[in-house]
Amino acid sequence: MNEFLYYHLKTILGVLDMLYSNNIDRDEIVSDAEKYLILSMIEGLEPVVVDRAKDSKIWDVNGKEYVDFFSGISVVNIGHSREEIIEAVIHQLRKYVHVCTYVYYVPPAIMLAKKLAEITPGRISKTFFSNSGAEANECAMKLARKFTGKREFMALMGSFHGRTLATLSVTGQSRRKKPPMGPFLPGVTFAPIPYCYRAPFKVDSEEECAKIYAELFKSTFEFSTSRDVAAFIVEPVLGEGGIIPLPKDYLRIIKEEVLNPNNILLIVDEVQTGFGRTGKMFAIEHYGIEPDIMAMAKGIAAGFPLGACSTREEIADSFEPGDHLSTFGGNPISAVAALKNIELMIREKVSERAASLGQHTIKRLREAQESLNMIGDVRGLGLMIGVELVKDRRTKKPAVEEAKKVRILAREAGVLVGRGGITGSVIRVQPPLTISRELLDRGLDILIEAISKVEKEM
Ligand code: PLP
Repeated sequence: MNEFLYYHLKTILGVLDMLYSNNIDRDEIVSDAEKYLILSMIEGLEPVVVDRAKDSKIWDVNGKEYVDFFSGISVVNIGHSREEIIEAVIHQLRKYVHVCTYVYYVPPAIMLAKKLAEITPGRISKTFFSNSGAEANECAMKLARKFTGKREFMALMGSFHGRTLATLSVTGQSRRKKPPMGPFLPGVTFAPIPYCYRAPFKVDSEEECAKIYAELFKSTFEFSTSRDVAAFIVEPVLGEGGIIPLPKDYLRIIKEEVLNPNNILLIVDEVQTGFGRTGKMFAIEHYGIEPDIMAMAKGIAAGFPLGACSTREEIADSFEPGDHLSTFGGNPISAVAALKNIELMIREKVSERAASLGQHTIKRLREAQESLNMIGDVRGLGLMIGVELVKDRRTKKPAVEEAKKVRILAREAGVLVGRGGITGSVIRVQPPLTISRELLDRGLDILIEAISKVEKEM
């Protein structure tokens, strides 16, 4: 078809599509969601009936435009609906959608495994593909047991590793594990979270905080486990727990003084921190240590469902025939999306961009903190940033209701942020890493104004 005709056909189809979606009855969709979806989030759905999303913006069915500061919970790191990814996916859709990556040789999945071997740190070289982050962690936990022949796990209080029963078992947040969900896996021991801002004793520096909490980890291992620990599973920056970057030396001390001498594997859960989010391709690169197993998902395929559990050969090869499989895991549509996503990230130096935009964001939020008492702490790595709201800077009492209000006001003014933290008092700033500086600043102006308004009402 000649280019002129093709262009006009595309425009007409686009207009028809918009007309169709604008016919969606917003109220009917909202009431049908209540009626037909099983919804059990801590707070309800955000009242945004989504029509479309592009780059760092989302539009609702009424045409209202939002700056996206949450990226579908830290997923579309490359931005919404990148044309190059859509083209790659359409090309694959026309060839085949599913044959099963664990029955036949599926080139996109194999090419992606090779690419992950190239970009993951250390000696990681083999990958099992699943559909989600929780499943990637399940695979990591099974592998750790199989390789070490040991059965217990250690994790951090405040951590989040998924919603399946095994991953909830290593999740250190009781509000996500309310009865009758338990009993959970036995043999899981939680060490105190190095949440330096809320340390119950005086810590003068990040270095000191790392040392004290590494010491507490050591005694937790010694006093509370039966020395049958297969692995320690950890997020380098706790995401759902409230955007808490682990202090610099913490993991290194633990690895040298507890994990290595006791043959305990380190499972690094990069589900939320991976793929450029923290200013490096993987957050563990900030900490200068080598993981034994890495779990990935979210940002891997720009919104197409995919999980990956990667490790070095000797650990991978401990799985025997029949030990692990997935029907949809590594499906070719998600795999081509991931390959294109990673290619774009490297070509466009997206991690470096996240690092510099992240520094700019933290600077702006810390400047705002000077005049806004409600901002207790601003922290993060790259574009994974948390703004912890407090009722009083001295007592640090969490401002939970206020955080809810800030989220609402920001949304009404056109910015979608996330909310998290152990009590829910942390505003999460996690926009696409490709967001323009101008749009980022516009979003930050709105967020800071929302915090200021809520503080005035306090
Ligand atoms: N691990 C971490 C660190 C996460 O943040 C999440 C989700 O938020 C998961 C695991 C679970 O991933 P999924 O929801 O894809 O199962």
